[in-house]
Amino acid sequence: MSLHQPVRPRWICSGCGADWPCPTRRQQLTAEYAGARVSLMVYLTACFVQACEDAQAETVGDLYHRFLSWPECRAR
Ligand SMILES: [Zn+2]
Repeated sequence: MSLHQPVRPRWICSGCGADWPCPTRRQQLTAEYAGARVSLMVYLTACFVQACEDAQAETVGDLYHRFLSWPECRAR
Protein backbone atom coordinates (compact mmCIF):
# COMPACT_ATOMS: atom_id res chain seq x y z
CA MET A 1 0.00 0.00 0.00
CA SER A 2 1.17 3.53 -0.71
CA LEU A 3 2.55 5.71 2.07
CA HIS A 4 0.70 8.58 0.48
CA GLN A 5 -2.75 8.13 1.94
CA PRO A 6 -5.31 10.84 2.68
CA VAL A 7 -5.72 11.98 6.27
CA ARG A 8 -9.28 13.05 6.90
CA PRO A 9 -10.91 15.41 7.49
CA ARG A 10 -8.34 17.76 5.94
CA TRP A 11 -7.31 15.41 3.14
CA ILE A 12 -3.61 16.01 3.52
CA CYS A 13 -1.14 13.33 2.54
CA SER A 14 0.14 11.05 5.31
CA GLY A 15 3.40 10.57 3.43
CA CYS A 16 4.43 14.11 2.49
CA GLY A 17 1.91 16.50 4.03
CA ALA A 18 0.74 17.99 0.73
CA ASP A 19 -2.88 18.29 -0.30
CA TRP A 20 -4.09 14.82 -1.29
CA PRO A 21 -3.80 13.47 -3.92
CA CYS A 22 -0.21 14.76 -3.82
CA PRO A 23 2.02 14.64 -6.91
CA THR A 24 3.49 11.29 -5.84
CA ARG A 25 0.08 9.73 -5.26
CA ARG A 26 -1.17 11.07 -8.58
CA GLN A 27 1.69 9.30 -10.32
CA GLN A 28 0.94 6.11 -8.41
CA LEU A 29 -2.76 6.27 -9.22
CA THR A 30 -2.02 6.90 -12.87
CA ALA A 31 0.14 3.76 -12.89
CA GLU A 32 -2.29 1.68 -10.84
CA TYR A 33 -5.23 2.57 -13.06
CA ALA A 34 -3.39 2.47 -16.38
CA GLY A 35 -5.94 1.56 -19.02
CA ALA A 36 -8.78 1.87 -16.50
CA ARG A 37 -9.52 5.56 -16.56
CA VAL A 38 -13.21 5.09 -15.76
CA SER A 39 -12.31 3.12 -12.63
CA LEU A 40 -9.87 5.85 -11.62
CA MET A 41 -12.53 8.52 -12.03
CA VAL A 42 -15.03 6.47 -10.01
CA TYR A 43 -12.48 6.17 -7.22
CA LEU A 44 -11.60 9.87 -7.32
CA THR A 45 -15.26 10.86 -7.41
CA ALA A 46 -15.88 8.85 -4.24
CA CYS A 47 -12.95 10.64 -2.59
CA PHE A 48 -14.25 13.97 -3.86
CA VAL A 49 -17.69 13.36 -2.32
CA GLN A 50 -16.14 12.43 1.03
CA ALA A 51 -13.90 15.51 0.90
CA CYS A 52 -16.90 17.73 0.21
CA GLU A 53 -18.51 16.36 3.36
CA ASP A 54 -15.33 16.78 5.42
CA ALA A 55 -13.86 20.05 4.19
CA GLN A 56 -16.72 22.44 4.58
CA ALA A 57 -14.38 25.45 4.47
CA GLU A 58 -13.18 24.73 0.95
CA THR A 59 -15.29 25.47 -2.06
CA VAL A 60 -16.57 22.64 -4.15
CA GLY A 61 -14.81 24.15 -7.14
CA ASP A 62 -11.43 23.96 -5.42
CA LEU A 63 -12.07 20.37 -4.40
CA TYR A 64 -13.22 19.45 -7.88
CA HIS A 65 -10.03 20.87 -9.32
CA ARG A 66 -7.91 19.06 -6.74
CA PHE A 67 -9.51 15.64 -7.10
CA LEU A 68 -10.88 15.39 -10.59
CA SER A 69 -9.12 17.77 -12.96
CA TRP A 70 -5.65 16.25 -12.99
CA PRO A 71 -5.92 12.84 -14.73
CA GLU A 72 -4.81 13.15 -18.31
CA CYS A 73 -7.61 12.74 -20.75
CA ARG A 74 -6.46 10.40 -23.47
CA ALA A 75 -9.92 9.43 -24.66
CA ARG A 76 -10.67 10.24 -28.26
ZN1 LIG B 1 2.21 12.42 -0.61
